This record gives sequence, structure tokens and C-alpha cells, in this order.
Amino acid sequence: LPETVVSRSEIADLPGGAFFEGKWQSADMTLEVRDPEDGFLVGRVCTSTPQDVRRAITHIQRHLELDRWPLRARRQALEKATRLLAEQHVRFANIIAAESSKTITEAEREVCRCIETLRLSAAASSELTGSTLNFEDSLATGNKIGWYSRKPVGIVAAITPFNDPLNLVAHKLGPALIAGNGVILKPSVRTPLSGLALVQLLVEAGVPSGRIAAIVGGPGVAEAVVTDDNIDLISFTGGPQTAERIAAAAGAKKILSELGGNNATIVCADADAAHAADAIVAGAFGVAGQNCLSVQRVYVHTSLYEKVVDRVVRGTQALKAGPKFDRSTDVGPLISDEEARRVEEWVDEAAAAGASIHTGGRRRGSFFEPTVLTGVPAKCRVIRDEVFGPVVSIIPFVDISDAVRAANNSEYGLQAGVFTQSVDLALGIADKLHVGAVVINETSDIRIDSMPFGGFKKSGVGREGVRYAVHEMTEPKNTIVNLAESSSHWP
Ligand code: NAD
Repeated sequence: LPETVVSRSEIADLPGGAFFEGKWQSADMTLEVRDPEDGFLVGRVCTSTPQDVRRAITHIQRHLELDRWPLRARRQALEKATRLLAEQHVRFANIIAAESSKTITEAEREVCRCIETLRLSAAASSELTGSTLNFEDSLATGNKIGWYSRKPVGIVAAITPFNDPLNLVAHKLGPALIAGNGVILKPSVRTPLSGLALVQLLVEAGVPSGRIAAIVGGPGVAEAVVTDDNIDLISFTGGPQTAERIAAAAGAKKILSELGGNNATIVCADADAAHAADAIVAGAFGVAGQNCLSVQRVYVHTSLYEKVVDRVVRGTQALKAGPKFDRSTDVGPLISDEEARRVEEWVDEAAAAGASIHTGGRRRGSFFEPTVLTGVPAKCRVIRDEVFGPVVSIIPFVDISDAVRAANNSEYGLQAGVFTQSVDLALGIADKLHVGAVVINETSDIRIDSMPFGGFKKSGVGREGVRYAVHEMTEPKNTIVNLAESSSHWP
């Protein structure tokens, strides 16, 4: 994409309201969306009520019963949305960078990813097939024929986090719509504008208003969505504590959840130390560490330990923290002062327990300096929990089996990285790591939008990655025909 000309105050056609019953509702524009960098007022949106949620879902329910929206039309709408997003990429990158903590460069990257997610969603029309069933092979059912086809589950609730405010919305809306579902979006209250703008774009591209709604609000509104009897599937991305609340409220509904990580990277004795260290810096501090794939724990063989620590520290010190709309900025702020204070508290806890802070460790408003720690006791939160901030801990090991055990010693299991020049060693370690993806000679911070994405343990349930989400958002439905007795005697 060409470089973006940026001004936060000149973002055209900012979505203001919630969208349901085919209209943008802007009665009560009380929610202020502020830039986490300096508090600049980016836009206002209205917060919805549980009654709005009911109306939005009832409207979709009625349309799903009455209107056909053929697969060809669904594919064409998503193809058009792909083209529109490419045309409007500047506007979307500006919205992301203004409301979230991404730099403009990171925001542009997210728009590119989102174009790809929409393209894959249109192409996933080819997933909506079935297969014949072999009744002839069964003694009792020789006079029957049958097949299964994939049917939409009904209405999908899409609940999304702040850190990829556009593409993670597309990862739910695209698959839900191509599969023939209705969908109601509840984006993060911290970054609602990108997701609402995507809904605007999908409607412009031809998604019928009876298939899509977006409402904005906090836990009360979200709970009204997840407890509604007409929601058939909840597709949630966010933190594990929220996931537990949703599971407790949702009863027997099907829930897909993409949750956190505290991802490990292992650097073996035969690794290219410089390459590993540079990759660790890039993987730990992108989006100021607010990335579920961020590198958080690094296990390095003692023979390379000093070299890797030294190069990671120098690489980290070379990063420029600064304004998000400045193209020379590498690391932007956290999503709020409160989040930066939480990260500060966790780093202080590690330091008090004996950890060394090699660089970073200080907070200024919503900014937290990229921080490298060593000597952190395993009980500290920067090792045990998900930091979701710009902090990486480096830990030496002697025996590779200890490193693998330590990497697996986590409630999470999202992704991991392994650096080694030995194919045998790489594959042996990859086999033992209890995570959704192992990346060899790169860190955990690698994803393409077409791969089955998700984790083991507390990192989630089910898989996204467009065609996998389409499978999760559909059910196989059998049709069985009992043939007339005489037809089974045909030659
Ligand atoms: P969060 O859990 O605080 O919020 C996520 C969404 O849930 C928001 O829309 C929020 O309003 C909503 N919510 C809050 N309370 C709710 C309730 N009681 N019922 C229903 N919904 C409710 O997460 P966050 O702080 O926005 O995002 C950070 C988290 O998301 C991190 O843990 C990160 O690892 C995770 N994440 C995971 C992935 C992944 O694909 N695995 C990707 C991005 C982020």
C-alpha cells in the first residue's frame, strides 16, 4: 500500500452509532473514544442497551426466517468488500491508529491483513459443500440414499478485543456471513470505531441489513448478547477471565474462544544467535507487546546466553518509542494509562523478587519503555501470566528437556518459537511443545490468516483462520431418502 497521509481529525464518515434494524442508531452518543496516546477525542459512539440488543437480534432472526441470501450473492458481497477496503485503506489505517495503540505502520499492516481476511472469506464459498453418505454399505439401510451439506448455525455473536480492532472483527464477520449466518458484533468499547467502520463497508458492499448488526457497550450489553436465546454461537476473542464469565452466562451455547498466550521462544546451542536476538526484539515489542503472539519468555542455552541478552538489549535500546502517527516510531503507547500502570506493577514485582532490568522499566503516561529482564523467579507474573505489554524475560538453560518443560509450564499454549540449525532437534522440540503452532527459526509472532489459528489449554477453544471458522460456524446436516422398495431391485 502507498504511504498514508494522516490527520486524526480528518477521518471521513466516522461511524457514530450502533447498527441494527437496517439503520445507524445515534440516539445517545455518550461513549467517547479517545486516543490512548494523549486523550485526543477521536469520536463518539452511542452505547446500546439490553433492549437494543434484543431488537437487533429479533430483526436478524426474522430475516433469517424470511429471506434467502444465496451463496453466490454472499460471495459477491465479500468480494466487493475486499475491493472497497483496498480503496479505503487510508481511512481505515487512520481509524485504527487514532483509536488504538498501534502506530500508523502497524495499522497499515492490519488493513492489509484484513483485505486478505475478506478475500479468504469470499473464497471460502468453496468450503460450503458436503458429501454423499454410503447407506448401501449397511445391511439395514440398503434401500436408502443420503448426503450431508453444511448449514449455517443461525446467529453468531462476535465479541472482539481492542488490540487488532479491524482484522479480528473481520475474522468473525467474514466467515459468519459467507456461511449464511446472521451476525451481531460487539467490539471492544476501547476501540469500537474500526469494527463499526467495517460494518459500514460490508453494508455498502451488499450485505443485507437483516444479516448484520453492531452494538456498543460494556459487560452489561455483552451479557445481553451472550444470554439471548436466539444466539446460536458465540465467537469470542479476548482474555481468559472474560471467557470464563461468558461461559458461565451462556449456558449450553456453542462458544469459540481465542484467548491469551505467554509465548515461549527456545534458542538452542547451535542457533544463529544474532538472527534469534533480532527476531526476539521484533516479536516482543510490536504493538508495545499487546499481541496475543508476543514473545514473553525466552529460554537460551547457556553457551549463547550472554550473546543473546546483549544483542536483545542493544536491539531494544535502538527502538524508538513515540507518537503513533510518526513513521519513525517503533513502539507506541499501551491502550490506557491503567494498563501501563499494571505492567509497571508487574515489572516492579519482578525487580523486588530479584530480577535485573537491563533496559526499560519506566512508565510515562500510557507509554511503558520496552523492557528486558533476566533472573526473574518463575513465580512472578511476568513469567506466569500474560504480560500483554512490552516486557520480555530471558532465562538460561543447560539441558534442552528442561527448556521444553519450562516452556510448557504455563496455563497457556498459543504458539512458540524454536531456533536451531538441526532439523531433528527442531522437529523433536516442536513435537513436545503443547501449543497451537511451533515456529522454527522464528518466534511465536507469526500468523497468516488462512492457517488454523488457536491454542491449547487456556489459550482457547476451537480454531479461527477463515475456512476453519467457516467449519465451526456451520453444522453438517444429513438428508436421507427412503427409496421405494422396488427401486432397490433395479439392475
Ligand atoms: P477483554 O477480555 O477485556 O475484552 C474482550 C471483549 O469482551 C470486549 O469486547 C469486551 O467489551 C467484552 N467483554 C467484557 N466483559 C464481558 C462479559 N462479561 N461478557 C461478554 N463480553 C465481555 O480483552 P481485551 O483486553 O480487549 O483484549 C486482550 C486479550 O485478548 C488478551 O488476553 C489477548 O491475548 C487476547 N487476544 C487473543 C487473541 C487470539 O486470537 N488468541 C487475539 C487478540 C487478543
